[in-house]
Amino acid sequence: MSQSVTIEHLISTSKRRDTSYMNIILFGAPGAGKGTQAVELVKNYHLTHISTGEMFRNAIANQTAMGKVANSYITKGELVPDEVTVGLVKERLAQEDCKNGFILDGFPRTLHQARCLDKLCLELNIQLDFVIDIEVPMNALMERLSGRRVCKVCGASYHILFNQPKVAGECDICHGPLYTRKDDNKESVAVRLNTYQEQTKPLIEYYKNKGILLEINGQQEINDVFQDIVNKIGVNL
Ligand code: ADP
Ligand code: AMP
Repeated sequence: MSQSVTIEHLISTSKRRDTSYMNIILFGAPGAGKGTQAVELVKNYHLTHISTGEMFRNAIANQTAMGKVANSYITKGELVPDEVTVGLVKERLAQEDCKNGFILDGFPRTLHQARCLDKLCLELNIQLDFVIDIEVPMNALMERLSGRRVCKVCGASYHILFNQPKVAGECDICHGPLYTRKDDNKESVAVRLNTYQEQTKPLIEYYKNKGILLEINGQQEINDVFQDIVNKIGVNL
């Protein structure tokens, strides 16, 4: 176990871990592998995957009012304003399918969002068990993002070199078509990585201080990253 996780926290969560009932934040820079690992975790632990980026992309595709607001920020690589994002997560976490455990992927991304999430957890009587920080050096992220291909239907992530689908251009899980995200271009990626450094990375300290941070080396084979996560959260598959 990482030294960031306190004994008190392990004692308080041990009963929950027995029943695979976990509330997890997947943390890391854009391209660190959060979505990729979320798919594996969902398969093995039956947790509900909540990706704020994916929710925004669905809202954009459905041309909702929120989608129109989000689109102007996402295209430029900027964060969607906190009040919109927090409202979205608040509604989602209150839903029935989150009661048996969830994975938050891409939220929180600012200190304000993290504080709002704490408040929300109190209101909904939710405990956050682990924040899994997938660490990948900045210089590796551009290559990951420029080669990323995403399923239009289920949002699963692939890579033209590192994680190829079985059939070119087709999702292994749902057979949907793969596409390149509009914000995976050089200009947007530069903005997103900069925003991560300035606004999101400081949350590592925030969760370290709460004693729930697990640090994972994200620069390994996808399966090895997953095994490390499984070992650290300590639930038998
Ligand atoms: P995030 O959700 O953190 O933005 P993704 O899970 O979409 O990141 O991964 C970004 C890209 O990197 C995708 O193309 C994915 O296939 C690839 N990828 C994910 N994990 C690894 C890994 N451990 N090694 C190499 N490439 C990876
Ligand atoms: P992602 O799919 O996590 O890479 O997110 C894609 C984009 O959605 C980000 O670059 C932001 O513009 C927006 N977004 C996703 N999550 C958040 C968040 N928690 N706060 C603000 N904007 C977000």
